[in-house]
Amino acid sequence: MDRPLRVAVVGAGPAGIYAAEALAGQDEVPVAVDLLDRLPTPFGLVRHGIAPDHLKMRALADTLRHTLDHPSVRFVGDVEVGRDLSVADLRAHADAVVFTHGASGARRLGIEGEDLPGSLAATDVVAWYTGHPDADRARVEQAVARARDVVVVGVGNVALDVARVLARGPAELETTDMPQHVLDALATAPVERITLLGRRGPAQASFTTQELRELGHLSAAVALTDPEGLDEESEVRAVARNLATLREFAEHVPEPGKATVRLRFFARPVRLTGRDRVTGVVVERVAVDPADRLTSTRETEELAADLVVAAVGYAGQDLPGLPVSGGVVPNEGGRVLRDGAPSPGEYVAGWIKRGPSGVVGTNKHDARETVAALLADAPTLPRVEGPDLVETLRARGCRPVLLENWRSIDEAEHALGAERGRARTTIHEREALRTAARVQR
Ligand code: NAP
Repeated sequence: MDRPLRVAVVGAGPAGIYAAEALAGQDEVPVAVDLLDRLPTPFGLVRHGIAPDHLKMRALADTLRHTLDHPSVRFVGDVEVGRDLSVADLRAHADAVVFTHGASGARRLGIEGEDLPGSLAATDVVAWYTGHPDADRARVEQAVARARDVVVVGVGNVALDVARVLARGPAELETTDMPQHVLDALATAPVERITLLGRRGPAQASFTTQELRELGHLSAAVALTDPEGLDEESEVRAVARNLATLREFAEHVPEPGKATVRLRFFARPVRLTGRDRVTGVVVERVAVDPADRLTSTRETEELAADLVVAAVGYAGQDLPGLPVSGGVVPNEGGRVLRDGAPSPGEYVAGWIKRGPSGVVGTNKHDARETVAALLADAPTLPRVEGPDLVETLRARGCRPVLLENWRSIDEAEHALGAERGRARTTIHEREALRTAARVQR
């Protein structure tokens, strides 16, 4: 057939954009890529995951945006697969579909009291401070407003992000693109003590050293830890660096007028306490046996907590029409497996392919592997006869946000930021984003 291969990429986060880049950047197979996102905005976790105070990392959006400008790529935002379009609809409009919609759910602690007001998943807090349109503002802000004692469960990079953002002083956040209501809520939050709980030892923590070190350089808080487990020698460089940083924290002492951020290890939450809202966390001291299994010591203590944040990982969510097992879509090098066999024309990349781990850049290699499989299959993929995807969406009453509309949002966010001397401010309401997008019927 004499037309480019039509490829739909579901999700305009890093994995989706890297997949689009790999498709548009080759000249073996002419392609026309539709890059769909359920939000009116691109960039996925670069916009709504990377902490707003990580300005350099967030600037990755400036690199990713080049792919949106590529003539073979069409951004189609504000369209949700599973609501506006089914997987079957997509298959009828595209010769190949690459699912890169990530893992947006939160893993749960599964303990008593987890649903009390004041107990949040890190995904709730991150959605709120990055201005995600689906954030539950009222729930998060009620908890943040009384957050004197904060317990963050987990010792991964997301736990550090949440702890750091809560511990920062208003002046440190002023230059970020956080919505004004987030800056106001953080400026008045009464945070005094933040405790991070690692269920295993410091050598098993999953945060990275650069992020850990940052915790030691906050102007409004002191990072502390206990010496237990820090004398261990590790041949793994990343672990040895973490231990060296933690040894420095173990020497720190609280400073008057500053909050504390304390990392505690061998500590597992067993219950959240409180009647109408969280008031504490019962923590059990655990031991780790040589086979890395956690064993109970039966020693417990209760930590005061007005806010508990479970930062224990993301979880892949079901998309009707797509197989999911253990939070990922079964696949072989990016080819979706249905009943154990590759399903022609269906691919995955990113967290929904390999699980919620790795840094943004990990998705580049991952997406390239998937695109290589797709391009190898291209000669044998049946070509669809269906109409153009955007025409179908419009006929269904959808108003997709295309590149020029996203540019209007981008301009509006710069203008909003300029009102307070900032580079940009995130527009956090879906309707406000749609207004800024100026989509013509
Ligand atoms: P993560 O690295 O998997 O960390 C999850 C943490 O939760 C671990 O400490 C884990 O402990 C703990 N945990 C899990 N279940 C638990 C339970 N039931 N009770 C107590 N603790 C529990 O996940 P993440 O922090 O969500 O990060 C996801 C990915 O994004 C990671 O690859 C991360 O590096 C990346 N990321 C990177 C950055 C950055 O580069 N700055 C920022 C944010 C996220 P165990 O190890 O014992 O299971």
